[in-house]
Amino acid sequence: QEDEIYFEDELLPWVEEGQYFMLHKPQGYVCSHDDDDYPTIYQFFEPPLSSKLHSAGRLDVDTTGLVLLTDDGQWSHRITSPKHQCEKTYLVTLADPVENHYASACEEGILLRGEKEPTKPAKLEVLDDYNVNLTISEGRYHQVKRMFAALGNKVVGLHRWRIGNVELDESLEEGEFRPLTQEEIDNLVK
Ligand code: URA
Repeated sequence: QEDEIYFEDELLPWVEEGQYFMLHKPQGYVCSHDDDDYPTIYQFFEPPLSSKLHSAGRLDVDTTGLVLLTDDGQWSHRITSPKHQCEKTYLVTLADPVENHYASACEEGILLRGEKEPTKPAKLEVLDDYNVNLTISEGRYHQVKRMFAALGNKVVGLHRWRIGNVELDESLEEGEFRPLTQEEIDNLVK
């Protein structure tokens, strides 16, 4: 059975392996384990679990929404590795009204400042003049903000609500998390 692990004569609490969570990330938190300027999303979890988890991809400090956390590196690799092209959907709020050509530009690929390869085809769904859903299958640095910057607009609100087949649970308040169901774990990446 399980080994009992002692450190300096104290029995360490047992942490089960194979843990999977979704977190509703608030603004003002970073997705790294420590940071000089901001609190981290790991503060929502108790030790020793908090130190065993890593996020499958990161959100910017000012971005809200769905973050997946696990201690399973193979599983998170399937979400983050460019090879698997896992889709992520963001609700984007813009400073200036959406323009007609945005959807085709996203579909065709956008050359981001300082890069040589355009972005992979992305799906844009217009909700109203200032709000769109954008689905991307890559995870470049500040990708969504840079795509709209290249189109001459500015992202003023960014919320991720879907990764692969998993949607952010609407019953989770900001800062709350819940374990993923076995079905979510198995079906996240096709
Ligand atoms: N794209 C961004 O620009 N920021 C995020 O947090 C996620 C995607």
